[in-house]
Amino acid sequence: MACPGGVHREEPPHFVLVPLLAPGHMIPMVDMARLLAAHGAVVSVAITPVNAARIGDVIRRCADSGLPVHFIELPFPCREVGLPEGCENLDLLPSRSLFPNFHRAARTLLEPLEQQLRRSRPAPSCVVSDSAFPWTRELARSFGVPWLLFHGFCCFALLCQHNLHEHKTHLHVASDSDPFVLPCLGQRIEVTRAQLPGAFSSTLKIQDIREQIRNGELTADGFVVNTFAELEPAFVHDLQEATGKKVWTVGPLSLCNKKALDVAERGDKASIDNARCLKWLDSMDPGSVVYASFGSIARLAPSQLKEIGLGLEASGHPFIWVIKTRDEKASREVERWLEEEGFEERNRTKGLLIRGWAPQLLILSHPAVGGFLTHCGWNSTLEGVCAGVPMVSWPLFGEQFLNEKLIGQILGVAVGVGVYTPIVWTEEEKAEVLVRRDEVARAVASLMHGGEEAAERRRRARELGEKARRAVVEGGSSHTNVALLIRSVSVSSPVVADGTLPLRSSGVRSTLTL
Ligand code: UDP
Repeated sequence: MACPGGVHREEPPHFVLVPLLAPGHMIPMVDMARLLAAHGAVVSVAITPVNAARIGDVIRRCADSGLPVHFIELPFPCREVGLPEGCENLDLLPSRSLFPNFHRAARTLLEPLEQQLRRSRPAPSCVVSDSAFPWTRELARSFGVPWLLFHGFCCFALLCQHNLHEHKTHLHVASDSDPFVLPCLGQRIEVTRAQLPGAFSSTLKIQDIREQIRNGELTADGFVVNTFAELEPAFVHDLQEATGKKVWTVGPLSLCNKKALDVAERGDKASIDNARCLKWLDSMDPGSVVYASFGSIARLAPSQLKEIGLGLEASGHPFIWVIKTRDEKASREVERWLEEEGFEERNRTKGLLIRGWAPQLLILSHPAVGGFLTHCGWNSTLEGVCAGVPMVSWPLFGEQFLNEKLIGQILGVAVGVGVYTPIVWTEEEKAEVLVRRDEVARAVASLMHGGEEAAERRRRARELGEKARRAVVEGGSSHTNVALLIRSVSVSSPVVADGTLPLRSSGVRSTLTL
């Protein structure tokens, strides 16, 4: 029997996932694809050749597992839009001033994607797109199916962002560095304008793209969020109330990785032998190791990297330190320092250095890890929560300062390293040393040492880790939400004349039939 929108009731629903081409967005979307498929959906993921090659093993494992996840490879026209050849991922972008070009190239994916999907069976029943790609609305509407957005943010950051768009509180302060209270949160959380996500920054002139993205947020049929209800219940509720949209909390997505290889390899190939990494971790006492990493796209200046290394060393705790540099010159400078000043030699037993891509999930899941120095990217933050370890927060840019508020001030599982000013993505080297070695050492020591406060923080972190794991098993909130999302899409109605989807939902005004 044919359903509205071309879906056959007896056929599984077909989710089309369109991730932003950046590790922090592709990794959770690929996890989401496998999760939806494991719950009985058919899933297509839009991808480009360079990115497909990068996660080739992940794609192969997906195929071998028999899960109905299909990767649709689409050409990405770099040269035509003035991008360096092969620049298909934001972590390859030489300068953020090229973001509009990247955006233009991504926009061209629409037509070939739609053509491929026209031939696919079952027909698409829902598009879940990164919010950075508002053009996917056309795709969803052309198939008459719901259009859901995935931001890669937590509900707290999404709510702060929504409230600021509505109340414009950030425009009533005199300067970027004046603190103000975030509106309508029910608690006093202060930030500065400079600490807000890119949507509120005036330094990059992409107003038209921002308007398209905001317009997309206002017209989407709902949000899919990588979080879990028990982590931030008030913010999940308030986000639904404030936006009038259904919010599907389906995370932590990283917990869908159960097999050793899936845990060890997400997003890219690790630049360290996994067995060596595990052997080193096995040789350490439980809870004694600090894992320090700044995510996938930040590249700190060599001078700042040296301070981090010296701070980790001075903390007296064993550490795993992930080092990423922007270019050859920076890499040579760091290598020279590591060797000539004897840093690596001195820390041969106590420190494990990973140059490039780290098997982050594998490391964080090991019982030897007792603390995480993180840049507060949402995936890393949530992976830290899942590991049940307390964190040192060192936000850099994006919505990371808001994530810091959530894990520090609100959830009480993090200690701030003491950074108040963001740095500019792709221009990190221009920043002076923001945090000195003694501040790194002090923050790590206060996280890892005994004392009542640290013990209480560890207890809270452990408790959140347990809640996270409960959320994704049968009967848990996220597990249930994935099933409900699939069910709602299977019975959704066609788009009506004004371009939205009429909705019935439990207490939430929304535009999607549930
Ligand atoms: N990641 C990893 N190895 C690395 C760097 C990052 O596996 O060396 C993964 C990490 O586990 C997380 C994602 O890449 O899933 C980074 O996303 P996040 O939101 O934390 O930060 P971003 O990279 O977007 O700044």
